[in-house]
Amino acid sequence: MLTIVPERLTVASVLLILLFDKISMKLKRYFNGMKYRYVGIGMVVLLLTVAAGCSIVRSMGKDPAGDELARLEALPNYKNGSFENLAERADKTIKHNLIFQSRPETIRPSHALPWVKTDLNTLPDPAPTVVWFGHSSVLIKTSQGNILIDPIFSNHAGPVPGLITAFPGTKHYHAKDMPPIDVLIISHDHYDHLDYHTLVQLKDQIKLAVVPMGVGSDLVYWGYDPKKIIELNWNQSTTLPGGLQITATPAQHKSNRTYSQENKTLWASYVIQAGRYRMFYGGDGGYGPLFKQIGLQYGPFDLALLECGQYSPNWPWTHLWLGQTAQAAVDLQARLLQPVHWAKFEEADQPWNEPIEKLLPAAEKLGMQVNVPRIGEPYTLGDPPKKAVWWNFN
Ligand SMILES: [Zn+2]
Repeated sequence: MLTIVPERLTVASVLLILLFDKISMKLKRYFNGMKYRYVGIGMVVLLLTVAAGCSIVRSMGKDPAGDELARLEALPNYKNGSFENLAERADKTIKHNLIFQSRPETIRPSHALPWVKTDLNTLPDPAPTVVWFGHSSVLIKTSQGNILIDPIFSNHAGPVPGLITAFPGTKHYHAKDMPPIDVLIISHDHYDHLDYHTLVQLKDQIKLAVVPMGVGSDLVYWGYDPKKIIELNWNQSTTLPGGLQITATPAQHKSNRTYSQENKTLWASYVIQAGRYRMFYGGDGGYGPLFKQIGLQYGPFDLALLECGQYSPNWPWTHLWLGQTAQAAVDLQARLLQPVHWAKFEEADQPWNEPIEKLLPAAEKLGMQVNVPRIGEPYTLGDPPKKAVWWNFN
């Protein structure tokens, strides 16, 4: 059922204003000469807006309600109507102005990122094989099953098309390229990790979804079978039929799909045990003692997938700052670090390749081995890290 709330109607109106000029100019050409051309233009624009608005409304998902909400309210980390981090929040919430912001031109690459076309159905699996699709989207083939993490194959991140668009060269992989997915893992409900269009397209390929507490409401709203969704709180584990063991671990972040509703669902990092291999995915989250704690409790790790691209003085507490990605990998007792959350969408205000250029020397100083594959380029744990520098252009 479609729920209409005033805030969502406002977003649809903004979309109408943003797109009206462009659409009406194009339509004018088609309708030029017609007696009632303006009536026709108006009706088509209205229909397009309603269609776009419905998609936007659905993409905003649904917060937990009723019995589901009551279940969350009983959890120790859900207090006064929302989930809380382990540490008290230390940064001010500066709402990101996506429309009226001046940013350096190099925030986007001037030409297409190099990428590798790989048949994802024939990956080797004696040891876990990892394929990154840009941003935080990762496929891991293991002998216990295929794992897909935070997939976003849409051309934009966010509810409104055209505002945060993918870089050229990062749009070659789609839902239809994915092999059957034994488990989908979602870290939190932000649009660049929980993408409505991708998840709707992937629905029939996904056997099970593991998500933080409360995020199941969005998936059910988008047509997923509740029986195929496993919600975890921090430090809760589940073992899947193929033998994969997945544990949700804490992260220092937040959740929201509208500006007014924060932390109604949980955010998490994950420990993934596949046979004798142990991997860590950090999701989004700032630096804190939690990395050392997770390393002590669940490490060492054969691989840590950690965010590196969203640092900004506007939110030093909810994302890893420069160099902290390398330190977090050390804290986790990881043998190999793959930086994610970069190279697909505009992040904070830095040039698009600055995160990787600053991370590598920081990691070297700490003796942390880093792997930076191209988009779509597979690597198998135990192989030497990829050394080719493919990001040295503006
Ligand atoms: Zn986030």
